[in-house]
Amino acid sequence: MPQKTKNTPMMEQYLKIKANYQDAFLFYRLGDFYEMFYDDAIKAAQILELTLTSRNRNADDPIPMCGVPYHAAQGYIDTLIEQGYKVAICEQVEDPKTAKGMVKREVVQLVTPGTVMDAKGLAAKDNNFLTALSFNDNQYGFAYVDLSTGELKATTLPDEEAVLNEASALQTKEIVFTSEISSDLQQTLKKRLNLVFSSQMEMKENAEFQFLTSELTETIEKEVTGKLLCYLAETQKRSLAHIQKAQEYQPDHYLKMDYYSKFNLELAQSIRTGKKQGTLLWLLDETKTAMGGRLLKQWLDRPLIQKKQIFARQEMVQSLLDSYFERADLQENLTKVYDLERLAGRVAFGNVNGRDLLQLKTSLVQVPQIRTLLNGINTGAWNDLLLDLEPLDDLVTLIEQAINEEAPLAITEGNVIKDGFNDQLDQYRLAMRNGKQWLAELEASEREATGIKNLKVGFNRVFGYYIEITKANLGNLAEGRYERKQTLANAERFITPELKKLETQILEAEEKSVDLEYQLFLAVREEIKQAITRLQKLAKALSEVDVLQSFATIAERYQYVRPQLNNQHELTIKEGRHPVVEKVLGHQEYIPNSITMDQETLILLITGPNMSGKSTYMRQLALTVIMAQMGSFVPAESANLPVFDRIFTRIGASDDLIAGQSTFMVEMMEANQALRHATNNSLILFDELGRGTATYDGMALAQAIIEYIHKVVKAKTLFSTHYHELTVLDEVLPQLRNIHVGAVEKDGEVVFLHKMMEGAADKSYGIHVAKIAGLPTDLLERAATILQHLEKQDGTKAQPTQVAEEVEQISLFQEVSTEELGVIDTLKKIDLLDTTPREALNILYELQKRI
Ligand code: ADP
Repeated sequence: MPQKTKNTPMMEQYLKIKANYQDAFLFYRLGDFYEMFYDDAIKAAQILELTLTSRNRNADDPIPMCGVPYHAAQGYIDTLIEQGYKVAICEQVEDPKTAKGMVKREVVQLVTPGTVMDAKGLAAKDNNFLTALSFNDNQYGFAYVDLSTGELKATTLPDEEAVLNEASALQTKEIVFTSEISSDLQQTLKKRLNLVFSSQMEMKENAEFQFLTSELTETIEKEVTGKLLCYLAETQKRSLAHIQKAQEYQPDHYLKMDYYSKFNLELAQSIRTGKKQGTLLWLLDETKTAMGGRLLKQWLDRPLIQKKQIFARQEMVQSLLDSYFERADLQENLTKVYDLERLAGRVAFGNVNGRDLLQLKTSLVQVPQIRTLLNGINTGAWNDLLLDLEPLDDLVTLIEQAINEEAPLAITEGNVIKDGFNDQLDQYRLAMRNGKQWLAELEASEREATGIKNLKVGFNRVFGYYIEITKANLGNLAEGRYERKQTLANAERFITPELKKLETQILEAEEKSVDLEYQLFLAVREEIKQAITRLQKLAKALSEVDVLQSFATIAERYQYVRPQLNNQHELTIKEGRHPVVEKVLGHQEYIPNSITMDQETLILLITGPNMSGKSTYMRQLALTVIMAQMGSFVPAESANLPVFDRIFTRIGASDDLIAGQSTFMVEMMEANQALRHATNNSLILFDELGRGTATYDGMALAQAIIEYIHKVVKAKTLFSTHYHELTVLDEVLPQLRNIHVGAVEKDGEVVFLHKMMEGAADKSYGIHVAKIAGLPTDLLERAATILQHLEKQDGTKAQPTQVAEEVEQISLFQEVSTEELGVIDTLKKIDLLDTTPREALNILYELQKRI
């Protein structure tokens, strides 16, 4: 920042603080405003639509300045954070009245997108994750925290791809780099997630951090988590008492799906709108609490892979369906449960008010009722959860006794604490209440003494209590005790020694009671803070109950069934449905489809016209598997599924995802992922693979990929294709079966049945689809003629292996000249065993001359 003139001490102080917060807007507290200067001011004025002024308007180099009133600052801070900026809040940390010289100022909090606690923008059912990343010994340390709920987890990841997948799954808002991270990875992260980067803060020894990371076994995880905590402590500068002990997790312990698969399958985010509407999460979410909503999303992100765990969830859903009580009662209780996780966080942060505590009480009061309902369920599956549903009676009693039912939002203006909670407070209050009585009595006696009927006692902030007498009555006033204080247009105000004495008593009581109330409130808050761990445990249990009741509700509403699970590679779904399409279309409109793949079947090759339902069928399977492994029931008449370890998809619509990369490249990258990483316990869904390149090229690749899966990968695979030629593969690949989408032709029109049938489709309906789409009749007739012509020319059906040879020939003639062919011919004829090195050199020389 160029400085021609000497800075004032205040600007000196500002610049010194700002130097430590280069990448943040510095909100510098000046009286009732937060001011910004220089570039901060110019940028903020634009983003927040503030008026840009300057500090020293008449100087040669005026300092740009803009400001926001401190009481309205939160809205402005939220806007900046939402747009991916950071805000450093700099307060006066000593009383200006007692300060000598410049008032001391310090940054009291750095708000960043990953550390938002209470912004409006914090969606109730979304987590807000801050991540830390380190790289060491060829592996990545990865830790994340949700500051608002206190959840803290860490893992070790093998490569960049895994980092991208984890970061995307968490939709992390901010990443703290704690070691060198390649700029390639940084760029990809930025492109995919639109997040902010932060650099680590200096690490300090800290017993609390050691405790929080004590259960991590890997050094790299301990380190990265320690640094994450350090970043939190340094930016937030306050108690992190609600942060939970770091838990180690391994992505391998859950059903793995990469970023694209999750995106393509529209699990939590619609491809078209980016919103929740129209996704599997949207369908499944009948949770009644914010905590339940967040847990559901986590379960969706990480479906299980252990039969036993899945079974346990299923048991609980089943028992809810079989239970004697009305689920509506349980839901009603849950609806009254407030966001306990975030509340615990705000207790630790010191951000709660009286009303929050009342909400906490309302939430806790639900717990015994929820327990009573669940206790009636006659199954052991609930035992563990029930143990964690501790009602926390002590807190209920405390809040009930301490907090006034009509507590205001502010905690510093009184009326927060109930009568009877504290003797001293009761005495002050008595004085205040008596004071009113005393004043009324004084008024009456003064009226009596003066004979002035409309004499009244009043109060204003400047003069305190006074006696007011209208001008008309002044004549009746005897000189003496009355001391004049203020003259109004038609009245005079006086005080008397008695009134002054009363005033002191009343005001003192008022002031002291407000102070005392604040102290008492802090003590109550502190007591609740001691219970944070129990509160968090309860919150977790309640969110599980909520997700499970959501599963039961959905299962009942849409007639889902409990899937069986096997480890024998058997897959049978009878009359399955795509849950989301069914919900949108309506149950009547959706045509159910079965799918059977016995132990031996690896690949289903699906043929059928466009728009006939091939990709819906494949998505249906993927969603059914995911739902089943989350512990939910599934949309079918019956289902028996293998437990899959990973799902790979290449299903249309992500084409324009990566700007600058061709559809075909994306397709091949996704195929590569699947072929390299799939096991025989994986599920692969390839929709029209190879469509993005020239026909023969694409068909050749498709065939080679099918063969590779059949021979090497051995994962259960659905492969849809419009290359009818591939359907003959079932003759050579025993573990491949053809299925097709049925369609009937009626009076020259095609009707899709959306029904899967055994065997290969025998005809392409492209022209009919074009007709339905309304292309001009002339054009359609012309296409029909061309088709006839082509079919006549073709004669027999092309065999895939023949196709491969054809590819070779074509390229030979297209790219090689006659001379070059001659050279090849000569080369072929040379007998190398009968050639000396010198002769060889001569031949080479000759050959080179010919081309
Ligand atoms: P394809 O992949 O064969 O081109 P899609 O799967 O995209 O076809 O489906 C085309 C349309 O048909 C979609 O709009 C979908 O809503 C509808 N559809 C697909 N399957 C069914 C079904 N089983 N019942 C009813 N409608 C379906």
